[in-house]
Amino acid sequence: MVYIRCDLCQSDRYITIEAMGRFRHPVTNVVCCQCGLVFQNPRLENGELNSFYANHFSEDLYGLIGADLMSVIDGHRFNYIRNYIKENFSEYDPRRMKILEIGCGHGGLMKLLEKDGYCVEGIEPSISLCKSSCDKGLKVYNCFLEDFVSRHRFDLVLAFHVIEHTSSAVTFMKKINSLLDDKGRVVIETPDVWHLYGDPHTGRDYLFRKDHTFTFSENSLGFLASLTGFNSRPIKRLTPRHIWFEFNREESTQRQTPLLQDRYEDIVCHVFNYRAHFSWRQRILTTERLIILQSLILKLVGQKGLKNIKAFLRKIGIYRLIEKIRS
Ligand SMILES: [Zn+2]
Repeated sequence: MVYIRCDLCQSDRYITIEAMGRFRHPVTNVVCCQCGLVFQNPRLENGELNSFYANHFSEDLYGLIGADLMSVIDGHRFNYIRNYIKENFSEYDPRRMKILEIGCGHGGLMKLLEKDGYCVEGIEPSISLCKSSCDKGLKVYNCFLEDFVSRHRFDLVLAFHVIEHTSSAVTFMKKINSLLDDKGRVVIETPDVWHLYGDPHTGRDYLFRKDHTFTFSENSLGFLASLTGFNSRPIKRLTPRHIWFEFNREESTQRQTPLLQDRYEDIVCHVFNYRAHFSWRQRILTTERLIILQSLILKLVGQKGLKNIKAFLRKIGIYRLIEKIRS
């Protein structure tokens, strides 16, 4: 394990906010006293981190989510990205647009984009996940982003639940910047430190995990963007707990969003309060249980049936009710 400075502001002043992670793993998370970034400290050395993602990550991924649910998530992300492209790349010909997905996993989203006519490539460090993507006939490279070399530049880079696993978010975004076309954009999804979830006492489904080296907020992502040559803005979320964020290279004299930073005192209070007030109701309605229930219903009634049930539940406001009980 190594002790590190804040990746964003290089400060070495931090306060421990949590010493336990999912599955009760001993994971220490701290908040930077200067810029409010939440990160794991100490954490695994870079070589150990890389070895984990190359060799063991796929078991963890499927252990947590399951292949059935992953295909549902891929479907949601695909619809989202297709609409996003329509709104933001209206002058582009889809067949000429170049998309790169970092951490493409088993390639479900890539396959959907490819079927829709986009030219899409992927990077996947996990040997087994990369093989699964390649078996689908996709163009996927088994490497880490820092080792990736491309002859051409990309119009759109996607990275869903990747940036919170990196050893340096600044290095990660700088490398993406070097791969982008002049008008290129990056869309990421990552957990939100202001929307904690899971049981902080038993570790069940807990947001803090041994493989999450960072836990961002919209403010810390905005700061990251300003350090790595991007304009940025939060975009519509698919679920309340995960930030969707756009980094873009549009030249602008005025920032699209003002640069804000989280106060470390607020983060400390937020995490301590969450732990102190975690209730029995939240314990019953764990995300893990809701996901298992969804998978079971999916098996029983199929994709179309699940859609109808969801539309009905949305109509009678059950989602709002669940969120209300859990918060
Ligand atoms: Zn900092």
